[in-house]
Amino acid sequence: MPARRLDGVACATRIREALAPRIGAFTTRHGRPPGLGVVLAGQNPASEVYVRNKIKTVGAAQCRGELFRLDASASLDDALGLVQRLNADDTIDGILVQSPLPEGMGADAEQRVFDAIDPAKDVDGFHPYNVGLLVQKRPALVACTPLGCIELLEQEQIPLRGKHAVVIGRSDLVGKPMAMLLLHENATVTICHSRTKDLASVTQNADILVAAIGRAGFVRGEHIGEGATVIDVGINNVSDKEFARELFAKDDIEKRFAAIDKRGFTLVGDVNPKEAMERAANFTPVPGGVGLLTVAMLMKNTVKAAKMRRGISNAAAI
Ligand code: NAP
Repeated sequence: MPARRLDGVACATRIREALAPRIGAFTTRHGRPPGLGVVLAGQNPASEVYVRNKIKTVGAAQCRGELFRLDASASLDDALGLVQRLNADDTIDGILVQSPLPEGMGADAEQRVFDAIDPAKDVDGFHPYNVGLLVQKRPALVACTPLGCIELLEQEQIPLRGKHAVVIGRSDLVGKPMAMLLLHENATVTICHSRTKDLASVTQNADILVAAIGRAGFVRGEHIGEGATVIDVGINNVSDKEFARELFAKDDIEKRFAAIDKRGFTLVGDVNPKEAMERAANFTPVPGGVGLLTVAMLMKNTVKAAKMRRGISNAAAI
C-alpha cells in the first residue's frame, strides 16, 4: 500500500487558526500586533523568495512583519548595528536574520550576528542561550523547522515514545535541534552525518526517519524500513528531467516537467519520493510538507516571544 501523505498544508492551517484569537487578544491588550523584523542583506534570489513568503504569511495573520534591508556591500558592523537597533525597538518582538549573509561580511558573520540577537527576540531559536535551554528540556524559542516537524507528527498522531528515530544531518539549524526534540518526546535517537558508515543499515531500523541533508532524492528505498514514517526536510531545485523521472511516479511527472519548463526547476526533497511512497507508511511531500510548517512556526514563535517579553504567564503554552 502506498504511504499516507502527511499534509503540511492542513497542519499549517490549523496552527494559524489556533493563533488567530491569541494574536487578536494581544493586539487589543497592547494596542499593536506582535511584530517581526526580518533582516535581509544582499539580493540572493532564494532569500528574496523566502523573506517575501515569511512577511506575507505573518501579515496575513494580522501580525506586523517588517523588512530591513542591507546592501550586498554592507559590513558586519552594519549588520550588528541593525540588530542592536531592532533589539532596542519595543515594537519588534522577533528578529530573523535571513541566511546566508554576504560573503564580504566574513566567515564567522552569521554566528556573530545570530549571537547579537536578544535571546528574548530570537524567533529562529539559534542563540546559544536558547539552544542551551532546549538541551536542558526547558525550551523557550526553538528552531522553527524541527518544531514544525514535531507539530506535524503530533497532529498526525504518530507516536514517538520508545520509537527509534534516526535523523540524517547534524546542522545547528535542523539536525541537532530535531534530534533533541525527538529525545524529549522519549524517542531513542540516532544522528547520522556524512561520516556515518553504512548509512542504510542504520536508517533501515528507523521507525521515524528525518532527512535534513541538502541533496535531492538522496534517501532511497534501501534506506527506508517497511512501515517507517519519513519526514523530508530537504528543499532542492531539480532541473534535469531525466533525474526527475527517477524521482517521481507517473501521476506526478507531467506536473514536474511543467514546472521545469515554466520555472526552470521543480522542488525536490532529500528523499526519493517514488521509492519512499512504496516503502514508508507515512511520508511528507515536497512541496506541501515541512516547508509550510517552518513559516507557521515562525509566526507561533513571534507570538510566543511577544507574550514572553511581556511576562504573560501562559506564553509557554502557545
Ligand atoms: P547543512 O547545514 O548543509 O547540513 C547538512 C547535513 O547533512 C550535515 O550534517 C551533513 O553531514 C549531512 N550530510 C551531507 N551529506 C551526507 C551524506 N552523504 N550522508 C549523510 N549525511 C550527509 O543543511 P541544513 O541547513 O541542515 O539543511 C538540510 C536540508 O534541509 C537542505 O535541503 C535545506 O534546504 C533544507 N531546509 C529546509 C527547511 C524547510 O523549511 N523545509 C528549513 C531549513 C533547511 P556533516 O555534518 O558530516 O557535513
